Amino acid sequence: MENTIVKTLIYDKQVRLFFVDNTKLINEILRLNKETNKILKLALGKTISVVSIISGTLKENQRISLQMTMSNPKYKIFADADAKGNVRGYLNEELLKSPDDYMDKISLASLIGHKGTIQMIKGSVMNQFTGITDMPYQNIADDISHYFIQSEQAQTYIGANIRFGNNNCVLFSNAIFAQLLPGAPPELIYEVEHKVNTNREFFTSLYKCSNMEEKLSEVFKDVKVLGYSPVQFFCGCSKEMFYGMLHSLSENELTQVINNKEAVDTCCQICGRTYHFNFNEIQGLVNGNHI
Ligand SMILES: [Zn+2]
Repeated sequence: MENTIVKTLIYDKQVRLFFVDNTKLINEILRLNKETNKILKLALGKTISVVSIISGTLKENQRISLQMTMSNPKYKIFADADAKGNVRGYLNEELLKSPDDYMDKISLASLIGHKGTIQMIKGSVMNQFTGITDMPYQNIADDISHYFIQSEQAQTYIGANIRFGNNNCVLFSNAIFAQLLPGAPPELIYEVEHKVNTNREFFTSLYKCSNMEEKLSEVFKDVKVLGYSPVQFFCGCSKEMFYGMLHSLSENELTQVINNKEAVDTCCQICGRTYHFNFNEIQGLVNGNHI
């Protein structure tokens, strides 16, 4: 059940409830950020965890792109996902370069601060919606719930639970998404939230059980499992995308690479993949594009 969203309806189809054990996904992405400070790992892990569960709500060619800006507007976290459960996320350059002695001392709440914002683009290429909200809870999961309540007028509860081990690897990570369907009494969302918060162990061990419907019925009324969908890390970068990077080198630098028959390696900041450009390819670029 790892990296699989379980989609259910509870309370006689009044609430849709999705949950996922995404430990594998979060570990895979955080391994690419090995050198990163723990608080940044937590911020990135929580953001990706939430975005991964939201991917379960997307249809066909829809996708979401989330940009989270901290109170210090230089610091940003990005994550996106599509309906197939392809998820990626990364810290911007300024966060990666931020001084360790500062980051070691602060909490997630003080990193986000009082002026944090969430910008979410949702939809397909032809039909896109952008919403921006503040981050009053300063903990990411409740802030994204707040985003849904504000921008989609839907009572929503999102939880993301991450525990780190001694060596900074993720022991477990799971996320939960609950949303009221039209006609449901608004207070039902608080009941779901309360049950999730008072049964944390239950939700951590849930993924190992074979009869999900029976197991969930121990906590919620009228449970119906609708189906399962995968989540996985997928960057989507290609060598072509990095030709643009070469334009940032000066003409002198490029000429030197060609004359000395050297090569240029560029590295994708999101997935860590390295793209190698040999001097022939750079020669072609110079000829073709008149740098
Ligand atoms: Zn990549």
